[in-house]
Amino acid sequence: MNLEKSKKLFEEAKAVMPGGVNSPVRAFSSVKMDPLFLKKGEGTYIYDEDGNKYIDYVGSWGPLILGHCHPEVMKNLKEVVELGTSFGAPTEIETRMAQLIVEAIPSIEMIRMVNSGTEATMTALRLARGYTGRSKIVKFNGNYHGHSDSLLIKAGSGLLTHGVPNSPGVPEDVVKNTITARYNDIENIEEIFKTYGKDIAAVIVEPVAGNMGVVPMTQSFADRLRSITEEYSSVLIFDEVMTGFRVAFKGAQSLYNITPDLTCYSKIIGGGLPVGAFGGKKEIMSMMSPIGPVYQAGTLSGNPLAMMAGYTTLKILRDNPEIYEELDRKAEMLEKGLKKHVETLGIKASFNRVGAMLCMFFTDQEVENFEAAVTSDTEKYAVYFKEMLKRGVYLAPSQFEATFINAAMRYEDIEKTLEAAYHALEEVKRL
Ligand code: PMP
Repeated sequence: MNLEKSKKLFEEAKAVMPGGVNSPVRAFSSVKMDPLFLKKGEGTYIYDEDGNKYIDYVGSWGPLILGHCHPEVMKNLKEVVELGTSFGAPTEIETRMAQLIVEAIPSIEMIRMVNSGTEATMTALRLARGYTGRSKIVKFNGNYHGHSDSLLIKAGSGLLTHGVPNSPGVPEDVVKNTITARYNDIENIEEIFKTYGKDIAAVIVEPVAGNMGVVPMTQSFADRLRSITEEYSSVLIFDEVMTGFRVAFKGAQSLYNITPDLTCYSKIIGGGLPVGAFGGKKEIMSMMSPIGPVYQAGTLSGNPLAMMAGYTTLKILRDNPEIYEELDRKAEMLEKGLKKHVETLGIKASFNRVGAMLCMFFTDQEVENFEAAVTSDTEKYAVYFKEMLKRGVYLAPSQFEATFINAAMRYEDIEKTLEAAYHALEEVKRL
């Protein structure tokens, strides 16, 4: 595999950008190789600067559920870009987008658009604090909610990969109101509420964690989170940045049959452009400026290009519910095939999957929480990753991320992936 141009571009990038990247996991450091520089996407395929072609299981870290350059998304984007790129004033498409989400998701009565998942969770917490008049928040070990100060504690994703439990630059004072809890541990959350319950403004949770590999909540844990937050009048925030419109059209909350007070979105709702959003009960959302006292603003919020890409994507998903059945079937085929391979080869691995989100952990433990996820053998993952890449399959460059299936993927692509995986796992076995 020739990667000369990527290598050269990386050298140039490193001279002017920290680590040569604009987001840490892209640097491929946990798989111990230089990153690919990507040039083009087409359906389920991506091409790097050296012209190598890969089946893409990253999909820009989740947004591209329809694959790259979906014709309808591209057509609508081109039309809207001709009209201007930004106005910083109300546009019709923002209301259409809000209407679509409010109509689709029973827990969302009002919604506000921002520019990233980080902004969505950060503001949802401010809103929950403003609404309750309380200071403390609860987050779970291994759950990642973006990089705002008060949430950069025991987080997943790049922080897990890079082994940074807390970031320098986050003052202790800022995280003193963040309580960390164990995921899927009912006793632990009950104890926390017993001690701090009346001061807890909000519990924020990834309903299916996607930043420590894929780890779903158990139903009983989900039910208890809902009931205990109700008992103490704390706000329950579902971070559906990754799971929203991914694990099901109505998100993880529909799978668990839970109505959160607030929900955060990003990724799919932007159709590949920068977007975030938070929404929920009207009573809480009415606390937002300009009708309420909780402040938040954004020069590019509700940007017409992002709204059009997101709106078109959501409309396609809403009008074609069979897409989710297909995604599930393809993901199941991949999961079953991988399971068979590791059995045949005698490799210790465990699997979690919810719809089109999948993870193979190189551990013999069932992975129900952060503590189990980190028993995975990251050396093995690095070999697996590199061997898959060589064979034209682009996976997330870290054990602690999700594998995403997209709607442009065909059964032949999964077959090819499974063939590559057998050989890659043979190399893992040799370790
Ligand atoms: N929450 C979750 C669950 C995420 O997966 C992510 C990003 N992967 C974020 C929040 C942060 O979103 P962003 O990178 O857009 O700031």
